[in-house]
Amino acid sequence: MIIVMTTQATEEDVQHVIQRLQRDGLDGQINRGAERVVIGLIGTGFPGDYQEHIEMLPEVESVTRITKPYKLCSRDFKHADTVIDVSGVHIGGGSDFVVMAGPCSVETREQINETARVVADGGARLLRGGAFKPRTSPYSFQGLGEEGLEYLAEARRATGLPVITEVMEPDEVDVVERYADVLQIGTRNMQNFPLLRRVGQTRKPVMLKRGMSATIEEWLQASEYILAEGNKDVMLCERGIRTFEPMMRNTLDLAVVPMLRRLTHLPVIVDPSHGTGAWYLVTPMALAAAAAGADGIIVEVHPDPDNAWSDGPQALTPKNFNAMMRSLEAVVAAIGRRVAAPVAAVV
Ligand code: PEP
Ligand code: MN
Repeated sequence: MIIVMTTQATEEDVQHVIQRLQRDGLDGQINRGAERVVIGLIGTGFPGDYQEHIEMLPEVESVTRITKPYKLCSRDFKHADTVIDVSGVHIGGGSDFVVMAGPCSVETREQINETARVVADGGARLLRGGAFKPRTSPYSFQGLGEEGLEYLAEARRATGLPVITEVMEPDEVDVVERYADVLQIGTRNMQNFPLLRRVGQTRKPVMLKRGMSATIEEWLQASEYILAEGNKDVMLCERGIRTFEPMMRNTLDLAVVPMLRRLTHLPVIVDPSHGTGAWYLVTPMALAAAAAGADGIIVEVHPDPDNAWSDGPQALTPKNFNAMMRSLEAVVAAIGRRVAAPVAAVV
């Protein structure tokens, strides 16, 4: 249920509604818009006449039942785009287009430092790299764990790039959040509800990747698990879905970008690396994602893709990464945006 306060409502009126909800054992989430306050009521099983009771409270303009299975992420609850501040880098709401780049996995101290330097010089604003890796086979490289997080932190100190890295289990959240600026939830964990709830309790932004077989509605409901715990800084990442087409690793669903714009206020990121699985498809799909209105991309870059410990075939070489960045600048300018520049370079 969405409770819309009048434009005259005071803080006292808002608190009055919240207290009434609490008295009835319900929890209201407040969204303070530019003109009015909206209160999202989450829960199930309201009495049939509850809506009318709330509508009678002072300075309540209207109460609507949301029939959609997702609420806090929807534009009905919050019209204005969410803008996430990742250690000074703004993502969403028409902010500059953000490029996150780095290797699939952190392999060695030298490899992550070298890649971080390349992507920072090329214009990336976040460094990616997996330390806890969700591999399809238990016999594949599983990541360096905390050692990998330490190398990421070192690369962060050297380049100033905030770090995005995956967390796979609720018990790992404590350690990962000590090092990461953004917690990544991978495709295989999109419906790991205990994990979603746990990252909802942190104060770190979360990037929620789309489950490889998830519908848009299931994906938005997954975001709701995080938002309902009180973490408002959630971004969505399209990374390709399973279809009948085996030629690409996944089918990158770019129509999802404008569709999500209609449905949700959350920022939208595209991952053309996992979305295609082939380095030569990454740049065209990165450009298409920018043209479709994504808030940013996350791409895999490796100094020596032939010898990468994971996902070599989809990694861009430093040279290809730089070429992609130049083309991106042109596409992003054509739609009236800019590629986010390093803080020091902003004039
Ligand atoms: C990744 O980004 O490293 C990754 C494993 O991606 P996904 O969860 O989309 O497969
Ligand atoms: Mn990968």
